[in-house]
Amino acid sequence: MKPFYIDYPQEKIEEHQHAYRCAHCKIPTTIIFGLLENHAEDCAYRTQQSKWTQLAAKLKPHKEHFDEPHADEVD
Ligand SMILES: [Zn+2]
Repeated sequence: MKPFYIDYPQEKIEEHQHAYRCAHCKIPTTIIFGLLENHAEDCAYRTQQSKWTQLAAKLKPHKEHFDEPHADEVD
């Protein structure tokens, strides 16, 4: 899991200079602060990232040791 989510699409906030917000949920970057849960719950970026996180968790291989240890065939 990524510690910070900063790769979401951003757009400039017209009323403010040097201020940006998430292009999807329109929440300012200063409030989001790199945290996924600070996006709106229905934010497309948040939804997508959550999906990826869940998918990654699913894809994570269960630690089943199929790799057999080299049989020490000692005579
Ligand atoms: Zn967002």
